[in-house]
Amino acid sequence: MLEGLFNQLAKPAPPCVIKVPPVPSGKKQREPLQATDYKAVPWVPPVPSEKTETKAKITLSTKERQKLLAYLDAIGETDRESIDEYLTGCGKDAESLARQLQQADDCLQLKTGDFTGLVQCSGCRHLSGDTCQFHGWRVVVDKWRRCTDFEPLQKTTDTELITCKSCIHFESHYKHGGGAGACHAGVMPFGACHWADTQHQCDKYQEVKR
Ligand code: SF4
Ligand code: SF4
Repeated sequence: MLEGLFNQLAKPAPPCVIKVPPVPSGKKQREPLQATDYKAVPWVPPVPSEKTETKAKITLSTKERQKLLAYLDAIGETDRESIDEYLTGCGKDAESLARQLQQADDCLQLKTGDFTGLVQCSGCRHLSGDTCQFHGWRVVVDKWRRCTDFEPLQKTTDTELITCKSCIHFESHYKHGGGAGACHAGVMPFGACHWADTQHQCDKYQEVKR
């Protein structure tokens, strides 16, 4: 019996195969990275700042105030509220004040009959219709102004200054025959505003026989 036991022990033991169940990972796996279509992020234009440049208000000096009041008087402005509003506007910033003072100067100078340094667009070769071709802006054609770009319409000195009012080609827009009107001689394009009393040179002028 002992011999049988020894024989059994002498035989090699069969390999012990233990099935180990998979241990579930405690961690959640990430979704595998996948290639995705590239979509460009649309460009968003920068939003302009809402801040605007603020200009410093000006306190009018006594002299400036007097000049502006003299100008208002010259153009016949008497309404107190309008005068206050105008003066407040003049003191808005240095640029506005300089512009208004220049306008006042020009007006007061014109009142004395002195046209020195002042021109009218109606006598300038850059004017086409009611637009200045040099600057590209619309103008009041018979307003006296300072303009360093003024070039006389006709440089001939032998042509005397005339007004459209006494020309057969002129047709006023008004019954009184003055003010704005049209030239039927085609001197200026259709729509141009001719002023009856503006002095200028014109080689198509023909005096109305009375
Ligand atoms: S250049 Fe000056 S004067 Fe001549 S049309 Fe222009 S704004 Fe008027
Ligand atoms: S022809 Fe000359 S003067 Fe006569 S209406 Fe025309 S622009 Fe005026």
